[in-house]
Amino acid sequence: MLLSKMAWHSYNTYRKGAYYRSQLSQTIELLDGAREAIMEFQTERLQKLLRHAYRTTPYYHKLLKTDAPDITQIPTLEKRNIREHLERLCSGAFTAQERIKNATGGSTGTPLTFYQGRYYWNQRNLSVYYFDRWAGWNPGEPQLVVWGAPADMEGDARWKHKFNEFWRNQYWLNGFYLTQRTMRNAYEKMERARPQTILAYPSSLYQFARFVFENGLKPRWGLKGIISSAEMLHPHYRDLAETVFTTKVFNRYGGREVGLIAMECTEGRMHINCRDIYLEIDSPNPYTIPGEILITQLNNYVMPFIRYRIGDIGMLSDEICPCGNELPILADLFGRSTATFRTRTGTLIHGGYFTQRFYHVTGVNQFQLIQETLRRCVLKLVIDEQWTEETRRYLIQSIQEVLGGDVVVAVEFVKEIPLPTSGKREFTISKVTAGSD
Ligand SMILES: [Zn+2]
Repeated sequence: MLLSKMAWHSYNTYRKGAYYRSQLSQTIELLDGAREAIMEFQTERLQKLLRHAYRTTPYYHKLLKTDAPDITQIPTLEKRNIREHLERLCSGAFTAQERIKNATGGSTGTPLTFYQGRYYWNQRNLSVYYFDRWAGWNPGEPQLVVWGAPADMEGDARWKHKFNEFWRNQYWLNGFYLTQRTMRNAYEKMERARPQTILAYPSSLYQFARFVFENGLKPRWGLKGIISSAEMLHPHYRDLAETVFTTKVFNRYGGREVGLIAMECTEGRMHINCRDIYLEIDSPNPYTIPGEILITQLNNYVMPFIRYRIGDIGMLSDEICPCGNELPILADLFGRSTATFRTRTGTLIHGGYFTQRFYHVTGVNQFQLIQETLRRCVLKLVIDEQWTEETRRYLIQSIQEVLGGDVVVAVEFVKEIPLPTSGKREFTISKVTAGSD
């Protein structure tokens, strides 16, 4: 829609001007550039943030003790710290009016309130523009947005939404309330609008893809890509959406607390947004053993998030990506639906570690690892003729490497691993709870 495209450009020029456009081209230059330059930029930003946090926030003034601390020695920031010390975490360099309130939703059970600044939001939007281009999006081109929106918008809010839809050239399908009728309407609208990209919640995308598939529809929109964000992208969601819409799904990983953390490239790797984020893995070896992801947000001066435990599990990869981009890679991003194993020293091991280690082992068709006690595990295996004693040693060693060298691993060969009543196969089960021995 040409008019809308023109509107996008004039609106943005009017609203943000030449400064904004030069910021965007600087962002592209940096993130497309050499690893060394990006890392140097990141180090400077990190030092600046730590200085600012020490000098202007009561919480970090007490915690850091110096304006040039060693980041690895700083205690991690937990959600409960934010709940207890919200005001003390805010910088005295900003007035209350300069704080922009935000909150996480209900997926974790308890909402979390926090503050961000205008600068944070400008930088966050620049990053979204940069990374969404990987999925084929260009400012002003039509986009279908399958996202949550209040169903009962009236008056001003409704008009504001309509206006935003227009200047962004976006078409909304409300992901909170998907019905046959709304999906049919959206589909018909898309036949005319021919969006270049879809931005969607993975679960809503999946529902919409099912609708298209079950009704035998064949979209010919010339889609360049689909951006999936805000939830775990399950493989079966991706498979169906890629088949139905005949294009690639790009996983975008982020959080409302800290913005865009990583984005999938055309080669299927998740590149870390090192311009905005300093990412660490809480693990003895972040390249081989997954651990909890710690995020330091480099642009939120209103309320610094330093080594924030966001609640996801991941691992780093030292691979050089064939796509040509030099941003470091986040490998094996795990959701929180897998079991958590405990060691005698109190370390928590995400079940995803074992699935990642065992999934492609030759000779093993299926497996299930059950942690019975802190000292004993049962490994159930469905094997085939390629099974060897060497594989047995590898599996046991992988378990003992993280749970402890003296943990007994009882290997049981079974014909099949029965499906639980939930119908969802569990690869990892832990019967150990806090305080067990
Ligand atoms: Zn890549």
